[in-house]
Amino acid sequence: MDTTNNDKKPHAAILTSPGMGHLIPAVELGKTLLTKHAFDVTIFLITTDPLTARSQIHQQTSHLKTPPNVVELPQPDVSSKLGPHPSLVDRIVVTMTESLPSLRSFILSMNHPPSLLIVDLFGTEAIPMARDLGMQSYVFLTTNAWFSAFTIYFPAMDPNHVENTHVKNREPLLIPGCLPLQFDDTFESLLEPQGPMYEGYTNVAKVINGSDGILMNTWQDLEPSATKALGESGILRRFTNGPVYPVGPLVRTLVERETAGLELDNKVKQWLDRQPTESVIYVSFGSGGTMSEAQIVELAWGLELSMQRFIWVVRPPVEGDASGAFFDVGNGGNGLLEYLPEGFVERTKELGVVVPMWAPQVEILGHPATGGFVTHCGWNSVLEAIFGEVAMVAWPLYSEQKMNAALLSEDIGVAVRAKAEDGVVGRDEIARVVRRVMVEEEGGAMRAKVKKLKASAEKAVCEFGSSYECLRQFRTNCELHLR
Ligand code: UDP
Repeated sequence: MDTTNNDKKPHAAILTSPGMGHLIPAVELGKTLLTKHAFDVTIFLITTDPLTARSQIHQQTSHLKTPPNVVELPQPDVSSKLGPHPSLVDRIVVTMTESLPSLRSFILSMNHPPSLLIVDLFGTEAIPMARDLGMQSYVFLTTNAWFSAFTIYFPAMDPNHVENTHVKNREPLLIPGCLPLQFDDTFESLLEPQGPMYEGYTNVAKVINGSDGILMNTWQDLEPSATKALGESGILRRFTNGPVYPVGPLVRTLVERETAGLELDNKVKQWLDRQPTESVIYVSFGSGGTMSEAQIVELAWGLELSMQRFIWVVRPPVEGDASGAFFDVGNGGNGLLEYLPEGFVERTKELGVVVPMWAPQVEILGHPATGGFVTHCGWNSVLEAIFGEVAMVAWPLYSEQKMNAALLSEDIGVAVRAKAEDGVVGRDEIARVVRRVMVEEEGGAMRAKVKKLKASAEKAVCEFGSSYECLRQFRTNCELHLR
């Protein structure tokens, strides 16, 4: 690609929203635009945990000859804008809104201002500002095409019809050209037409649809029907102003981390090195996922009863809200073991490792000894699982994760679901699904399928691959704006 004519070089400002699950793919997008598609890139960092976020960006970019420019926006004081018990989403949304004035002043002060702004699902309020400053605006949906299609179609759905058929009669929700969405996999809080989120999400989706284009962290071969429905001549195309590009997977990979000198080098690695190939199941619920104390106890017993080797990332229990909090992951997790059943650590010391708070996930999933993953189905974790060639136990907690679980288990066939009863997944069920993935033939078949998916993912992001070519088209659109 010709990088010599800087006047014609698009400059992408990528606005990140708080939370590792948002930051990590945003940085991957920035790296890809910079290194493979000759964009200039400035990452605007909005975070509530600056130390961890800085270190994360450093890990992802420090090996690059020219890393992207990173601007950390001042942390706004949001306390007076939030009610007494704000949800995680409320905190993110208010933090984003309150950061807009500093984003605007920074952009206005730049000698080489960005020509386009890329935001995620939480950054859509910045889009009118981008327009006002003469920039193009794009939305990076850090998720799959099915949920993207759901979002894009959302404003076109008739709320009364949704309420009568889907919510009351539990009929599947039909998104044109895509898998039907079963009631049990619904993102409940969004789909209550009388509920507080319906109108808000409709408005967000309208802004997304009105942007200059949408990027999704998936690839054509992973989701052929949904990407086709969203494509140039697809049935959903008329709902968006600009094109919808599947540009993924944008994901941290083991190969790159080893090149960057970030190999796993601690007691987890030493333990993994001693285990047989594909014998360990990794258990982790993303950057913020939490469970009740009762659920933690069941999980501990379930792992023990499964008699399979494990690495388990344990967080303190949170009752009620599975999306937990913003954890200060550098903060150790002292006292955590008290929540585990008495004698658990001692009894399982040969079988497994308990890691408090945060683990080097890409390295663990990529280690040859790891063969399975109990996951909350956050989309980054799913992509990392594919690169780690592991089969999954799908245990969704919140947000769109139930849709992801359905996609992985019923459609793609690389996961089995852990079923809850009265809101808790019992120990016997946990032991059963872990053994299905680790011991039974279907686990092997799923790993074989995942290996094929990994190969198709690698092909998609290489030159002439589907995602690479989508980013090339995206660049062409960004260039047209420069003229
Ligand atoms: N992650 C990690 N170590 C942990 C927990 C999470 O490295 O102990 C990373 C994980 O690899 C992924 C991200 O945090 O890249 C979580 O994103 P995901 O979309 O899976 O879930 P979310 O946190 O957004 O729910």
